[in-house]
Amino acid sequence: MWVGIDLGGTNTKIALIDEQGKILESKSFSTRSFRTPQAWVKRAFLEIKEFPRVKGVGIGVPGAVDFDRGRIRYLPNLPGWENFPIVERFSAVLGKRIRIAVDNDATAMAVAEWVYGSAKGYASAMCITLGTGVGAGLILEGKVYRGIDGVAGELGHFPLVPWGKACSCGGKGCLERYVGNRALVHWARKLGLLSAKEDDLSIVSDRAKKGDERALDFWDKVAYTLAPTLIGVVNLLNLEVIVVGGGVASAGRPLIGAISRYVKAYAMKVQGKRVKVVKAKLGNSAGVIGASLLPRR
Ligand SMILES: [Zn+2]
Repeated sequence: MWVGIDLGGTNTKIALIDEQGKILESKSFSTRSFRTPQAWVKRAFLEIKEFPRVKGVGIGVPGAVDFDRGRIRYLPNLPGWENFPIVERFSAVLGKRIRIAVDNDATAMAVAEWVYGSAKGYASAMCITLGTGVGAGLILEGKVYRGIDGVAGELGHFPLVPWGKACSCGGKGCLERYVGNRALVHWARKLGLLSAKEDDLSIVSDRAKKGDERALDFWDKVAYTLAPTLIGVVNLLNLEVIVVGGGVASAGRPLIGAISRYVKAYAMKVQGKRVKVVKAKLGNSAGVIGASLLPRR
């Protein structure tokens, strides 16, 4: 049995997962009710203690990680976690026999989709998550690609608009500023697809699924905005598949079909013919399932 922990900015999910990637039990608690990461580890430990025959624990976190040393570098939405030696702290309470690993949450999700989901069987894949943030995990030539400092895959901070809107990362014109959840809600409101009080894009997704022309047009424009970045990546890396996940991906076919059309039509000939653009398979569970795979690899 393996434990997967998905540390979110709001909630922490913990699941007990078997060798086949099936979730046997899952729990969640508020992340923000703990003042310090040490207090959070204590709470997570109480949950893990209840699980039987645990061989390893994996943690996916929303930010920059030093994978090899098992440390968090920093988490943009959770101040106070800088340089936290999370693997060492779990080892101290769980004992040396239990394997522990930490990685970026987008990378963990990509691993889950690669092992059990839509990227299964491919050697080169990018799994993107569209939500409040825009992130990606990369599998290249059969290996997880993390970059020299472990922070590769920051697709949301691709400078889509040269010297455009300022981003919290310090850059300008980042993709996330245009297709992150907040930007899309603002955009949908401007088009009258959401009222000033509504902030749930699934309303626009449902309308598109029923054939509403304006909602379909909205998702087409989102795909149109997202595509240039993906085309650049496909031309650069000659990927076999792009897996699209995250809350915004629940728009389904109207969004993913359009992304696929733009990417295949405008990428270079060989790259465009090769690449597939598909929806993520594991949904909300990808985070914990991917985390549980980290200590197994
Ligand atoms: Zn940025």
